[in-house]
Amino acid sequence: MYLVLLLPHFQSIILKKRIAILGSTGSIGTQALEVIAKQKEFFELEVITANSNSKLLIQQANKYQPATVVIADKSKYTEVKEALSSLPVKVFAGAESLEQVVQSDEIDVVLTAMVGYAGLLPTIKAIQAKKHIALANKETLVVAGRLITEMAHENKVALLPVDSEHSAIFQCLAGEHFNPIEKIYLTASGGPFRGKTKEFLKTVTHEQALKHPNWTMGAKITIDSATMMNKGLEMIEARWLFNLDISQIDVIVHPQSVIHSIVQFEDGSMKAQMGLPDMKLPIQYALAYPQRLKSDFPRFDFLKYPDLTFEKPDKEVFRSLLLAEHAMKKDGNLPCIMNAANEIAVGAFLERKLDFHRITDLTEQCMEHIHFIENPNLNDLVETDTETRQYAEVLLSKKSNFA
Ligand code: NDP
Repeated sequence: MYLVLLLPHFQSIILKKRIAILGSTGSIGTQALEVIAKQKEFFELEVITANSNSKLLIQQANKYQPATVVIADKSKYTEVKEALSSLPVKVFAGAESLEQVVQSDEIDVVLTAMVGYAGLLPTIKAIQAKKHIALANKETLVVAGRLITEMAHENKVALLPVDSEHSAIFQCLAGEHFNPIEKIYLTASGGPFRGKTKEFLKTVTHEQALKHPNWTMGAKITIDSATMMNKGLEMIEARWLFNLDISQIDVIVHPQSVIHSIVQFEDGSMKAQMGLPDMKLPIQYALAYPQRLKSDFPRFDFLKYPDLTFEKPDKEVFRSLLLAEHAMKKDGNLPCIMNAANEIAVGAFLERKLDFHRITDLTEQCMEHIHFIENPNLNDLVETDTETRQYAEVLLSKKSNFA
């Protein structure tokens, strides 16, 4: 963690935290690079990675000068290697390289900003190599929450939440180590279709679904927010991060996205963390933890938000919340099935192969069909993911079979 060594003459030397960003070309990744560049005194950028966006990865390597870059798509290796040949930077390619670079002795914290299930194995390797995890990739905890939290505990590794809601809860818990949580309230903006009917969801276009009212994010999480599956994934993420029972987790719609989440303690007191919707703050908090670094992020003005409002989520319309509750209750490999099916369904929607309202239908069908395993190990989860994806593709190929 952040180290300050006091010298005899009371000057301090700050040992910078060395950071690896998995998914530097994404929404979280690019914001993390800006945070790190502004806080050079505290952070050293060691590794950046992308899936296939070689152009942006090359630009980032030139601008931020990390020691290592990885492009998961091997066909882009030569392009990246040649473009960076004049820099003292190591270039690797392939998914297995992601799992290797996170183990480097030169890294203190790995920011998991990849999207989807692909984040699971690199996160496991990083934990096994005793790296602290700044966790944006919520799918990792959804798929393998028990395994990941046990592994983090055994390796004495911190899981530092980046998701704004979980960062809010984490911030509210500072100084409350001995005070049990009674309940948490995860706030949800409600997405672009808040207040709409089931019938309306049948007419949703790409443009409408990709336009989040408050946040600018990657495509997958933006669609997850529109179906409200994002909040379902976050419930499961919260359960593992804060060791909660399902009865202790509630979702409340708060369209202004100013209160990022709330903790209720056993004496009835509630603590909320608030601020403008800006992911740089939770990113910086996770990377700098336990320090709060001075920043020039825009400040909140109460007078611009005279009304902070709250509503119950409509689970009849946004059934993905019910699916996630069911997956969380039943546990086993069911959250893994739900996640894989949802990833395929969202991908199909983004490729215009599936209507918006069918994302939830397809996910539900997979959850009903794939065989349940009560205590899955990592192999079981990997197989469950593969099996679910294959089944979801079969369903997609005969779309009319699911209503
Ligand atoms: P983006 O889609 O914007 O970025 C995803 C990143 O992951 C890109 O760098 C992408 O590379 C890389 N990537 C995608 N697939 C793979 C793969 N198979 N192997 C290796 N790298 C891959 O996503 P976001 O930044 O929006 O989200 C990242 C994670 O953070 C998600 O889990 C999301 O739920 C979570 N999160 C995001 C928030 C946000 O505000 N965006 C808020 C809270 C949580 P390439 O560019 O080459 O495709």
